[in-house]
Amino acid sequence: MIPLPDFLLVELRALLGAEHVIDGGDALEGLSKDFFWYSPVLRRQLEGKRADLAVRPGSIDELRAVIRACFRAGVPIVPRGAGTGNYGQCVPLYGGVVVDFARLDRIHSVEGGVVRAEAGARLGTIEAVARASGWELRCIPSTWVKSTIGGFFCGGSGGIGSITWGGINAGDNVKSVTVMSCEEEPRLIRLEERDSIRALHTYGTTGFMVEVEMRLAPKANYEQLIFSSRDWGRLLDWTDLAARNDAWHKRLVTQFEWPIPSYFKPLAKHLKSDEHASFLLVSRDQADEVIASASAAGLNGVYRQPLSDPPRPPFITDYTWNHTTLWALKADPSITYLQSGFGTNFRDQFAELHRRFPGEILFHLEWMAGGIKFVAGGGPSSAGSHIVVAGIPLVFFKSEERLAEIILVCSEIGVGIANPHTFFLEEGGRHPNIAEKRALKAEVDRAGLLNPGKMKSFPVNPFEPALSGDVPRR
Ligand SMILES: Cc1cc2nc3c(=O)[nH]c(=O)nc-3n(C[C@H](O)[C@H](O)[C@H](O)COP(=O)(O)OP(=O)(O)OC[C@H]3O[C@@H](n4cnc5c(N)ncnc54)[C@H](O)[C@@H]3O)c2cc1C
Repeated sequence: MIPLPDFLLVELRALLGAEHVIDGGDALEGLSKDFFWYSPVLRRQLEGKRADLAVRPGSIDELRAVIRACFRAGVPIVPRGAGTGNYGQCVPLYGGVVVDFARLDRIHSVEGGVVRAEAGARLGTIEAVARASGWELRCIPSTWVKSTIGGFFCGGSGGIGSITWGGINAGDNVKSVTVMSCEEEPRLIRLEERDSIRALHTYGTTGFMVEVEMRLAPKANYEQLIFSSRDWGRLLDWTDLAARNDAWHKRLVTQFEWPIPSYFKPLAKHLKSDEHASFLLVSRDQADEVIASASAAGLNGVYRQPLSDPPRPPFITDYTWNHTTLWALKADPSITYLQSGFGTNFRDQFAELHRRFPGEILFHLEWMAGGIKFVAGGGPSSAGSHIVVAGIPLVFFKSEERLAEIILVCSEIGVGIANPHTFFLEEGGRHPNIAEKRALKAEVDRAGLLNPGKMKSFPVNPFEPALSGDVPRR
C-alpha cells in the first residue's frame, strides 16, 4: 500500500466532520470488504486488502469536495454502497479512500412510474416507498433489503422480477443516471435511456453515481409458494412451463436440486428430505390456479405464505439468487459457485455436466426474461422476449485448476459463464460495450484514480508500479 499524505486526513475531517472520517479499526476493515470470500480464488487474492480511510459525505457538495481533495492528493478512490458485491468490486486494491454512500440516500420522488433517488438509497426502502404509491421495483437482487440502488447499478445484474422484466440492463428499466467525474473540478454528467448503460456494471470505475432514475412496475400482491418432488425431471418440466406461462404474473421462478433445500435451515419444517424444490412468487389472485396446476403435475405443495405489503419477513427470496450460495456456504464451507446461462438444450447441458463432474455440481436454476423488447411508454412486450434458464450452480471446490476446468467444459457445451472468481470487470461477464465503458472512464477519470485495477483494459493505472516496488506517480 502507498502511504497517504498526512494533510488529506486533516482536510477530509475539516470537510466532513471527524465522525464521518474513519481511519482505522474494525469499521475501516469492514468498509474495505464485500462478499468476495464466496470465492476461494478471490479470498486468496483479496484477503489482506484494505483502505487507508473511509468517508461518508452527506451531500453532493460534500462529495464534490471529497473528490477534489482526493484528486489533488492523487490517491485511489473507491465508491461503496452497502458492500454486498460478490467479486471484490469495492475492495481497494491499492489502499486509498473508500467513499461510502450511506448518507447519500434520499429518495427524491416516485412519480409517473419512475423513482428518482440518490445512489446510496437502499432498494428495500425504495420498494416500500414505491409500493405505498402503487408501484414496485421491476428487478431487485436478493440482497434488496440492504443493498443500494447505485451499488446494484454498478455491481449487480438482475434478480427478483427478472422473470418478467429481465436484468437491470434490459429494455427501458433504467431511465437515467447522473455521475460525478473525478477531476480537479468534478462535473455532473447525466446519461439518459440506453446511453446510461455505458455506466452499468462498471464497478465504480466510470464516475461516482450520484442519482439514478429507474422505471417501476405497477405493484402486485404476491403469494410465496414452494413445490417439491423427488423427481427432478417432473419438477423441471412443470417449473419451466410455469416460467413460460405468460398468463401467470410472476416475480420469481427458481428450482433447486436436492440437497440444496437441506441448507435452508429456517425452512426445514416445510421441506421434505430428498426432494428437489421450486420457489415461486406469483400474483396472489392466481395462486390457487398455480397450486392446482402443480398438484395435477404430481408435485407436493409444501409452502404457501402471502408476501406482506409493506414487505416484512419471511421472504422466500432470502433463499434464491445468490442467497442460495450463502446458505450453502454456511452448511459446507467447501462449496463455491458459478453464474451460468443455459441454452434451449438445458436438459442436455445439465446431464452432460453431471456426467463430466459427478457429485461436484448441484443445480440452482433461475428463470428470467431475455431479449426483452418494450413498447414505448408501456410494459414488456411478449413479442421478441423469451424466457431463458440461468442459474447459480453450486460447486464443491477441489482446486482452482478444477474450477477452471469446469468453466472450460461449460463453454465447450454452450453454457455461458459470468465468472464470479475474478475482480476484473472484463473477465467477469459479457461486456459487448466495453469500448464505450472505457471511453466513459477516459471522459470522467483520466487520471485513473477510480477503483484502480478493476477495469484492466483501461491504459492508465498510476498505482500499478507500486506492485513492482517502483515509486508511484502522484
Ligand atoms: C447473499 C447475496 C445475494 C446476492 N444476490 C444478488 C442478486 O440476486 N442479483 C445481483 O445482481 N446481485 C446479487 N448480489 C450481489 C450484490 O448484493 C448486488 O449486486 C447489490 O445490488 C450490490 O449493491 P451494494 O449497494 O451492496 O453495492 P456494493 O457492493 O457496495 O458496490 C458494488 C459496486 O458498485 C460500486 N458502487 C457502489 N455505489 C456506487 C456509486 N454511488 N457510484 C459508483 N460506483 C458505486 C462499488 O465500487 C462496487 O464496485 C448478491 C450478493 C450477496 C452477498
